[in-house]
Amino acid sequence: MTMPVTAPAHRVADLRTRLAALGANPKHAQRVLRLWSNALPQDSGSRPVESFLPRTLREALPALEAELAALARVVSEHPGEDGSARLLVALADGQTVESVLLPREGVCVSTQVGCAVGCGFCMTGRDGLLRQLGSAEIVAQVVLARQRRAVRKVVFMGMGEPAHNLDEVLDAIDLLGTAGGLAHKQIVFSTVGDRRAFERLPLGRVKPALALSLHTTRPALREQLLPRAPRIAPDELVALACDYAEATDYPLQLQWTLIEGVNDGDDEVQALQQLLAGRRVVLNLIPYTTVDGLPWRRPSWERAAEMARTLHRAGVLTKLRHSAGQDVDGGCGQLRARALAGTGAPQPVRVSRRALA
Ligand code: SF4
Repeated sequence: MTMPVTAPAHRVADLRTRLAALGANPKHAQRVLRLWSNALPQDSGSRPVESFLPRTLREALPALEAELAALARVVSEHPGEDGSARLLVALADGQTVESVLLPREGVCVSTQVGCAVGCGFCMTGRDGLLRQLGSAEIVAQVVLARQRRAVRKVVFMGMGEPAHNLDEVLDAIDLLGTAGGLAHKQIVFSTVGDRRAFERLPLGRVKPALALSLHTTRPALREQLLPRAPRIAPDELVALACDYAEATDYPLQLQWTLIEGVNDGDDEVQALQQLLAGRRVVLNLIPYTTVDGLPWRRPSWERAAEMARTLHRAGVLTKLRHSAGQDVDGGCGQLRARALAGTGAPQPVRVSRRALA
């Protein structure tokens, strides 16, 4: 008996239920999930399927593989000069997200279609939240990446705010850090800062590294730049994030999108020195990728380098970074926006804010 191709199970929890219904015990399920999340065929592995899996599950495997393959597919691939590549990825319902293959065996994945935080400098935030991704759809982006190159690091910095889709993101992290074979510190949970995330992350069996998108030390400016981020003052945010980072013994990564005339002043440099003194933090300064139609500008590289030098001299471990693949519609959400404008792809269905609770 073969199983018909059904609507894809978007969540890892659904997949586990499906596998159990097919007679899989936890070890069988783990094998299926391990092979899938490592982009390996289900008939590979040291033990032949005939000697290991029950017949009902064996017979269902081809249809299950087809179902998993249908979760996400690459619509277009845009290599950058820095060794990265941006992928426009279509989900089974036709919605699209972006993933980025990063230099040095990393991949950046999306967790939502759209985003409710509404950062003024981000294309993804402009349409609000369209829908959540299921944990299997998140892992499927890693599978697509692994079909193209080795992946040893996964960062949750694509479209969406992971803390707004916490159950699914944590399920994906759990799978990637177990069956998916990634070291915990090679998984990076990125957030604008949300108390729910700070509470839940320490409880997981897989504890990812943490990246906090801070962008400014000034509460009023932060409310303006990240209008629907939780109202937590920057100094408290850093303290909360550092508590988690210290508990896991990985340094906290602080993300700072550097915008000319907005958050590249000496006042911010001085405030950062005070805020981060004695903290185990890596500060990533990322000069903004200018987007047509938005008012923000990228500061000069000289100014960015001067800031990095000053902070470094003051004892703040600071890295000046390019946004990966910035030569190919580099800002998050630009590929998707361009594709929507050009193809008449499915239009947004807005999600109420209650869906974020
Ligand atoms: S920068 Fe991140 S958090 Fe802000 S709107 Fe874009 S995707 Fe959302």
